[in-house]
Amino acid sequence: MLPSDLPAPAGALHRTDTAERGSFAVARCSCGWSGPARRSRERARSDARAHSPEGGTLPEG
Ligand SMILES: [Zn+2]
Repeated sequence: MLPSDLPAPAGALHRTDTAERGSFAVARCSCGWSGPARRSRERARSDARAHSPEGGTLPEG
């Protein structure tokens, strides 16, 4: 099991963001979580929202 598969500790701040890797976009979180590489940033944002449905406030752009 990868460390990223572990549940985030209670009280951890979930500030999600997206990073670009070449032609891929990856969702990241301040808790250390990161999503799979996606071919579109929208998909990466969807991953971020799925990870952090409550604190998933992403900046537009
Ligand atoms: Zn998180």
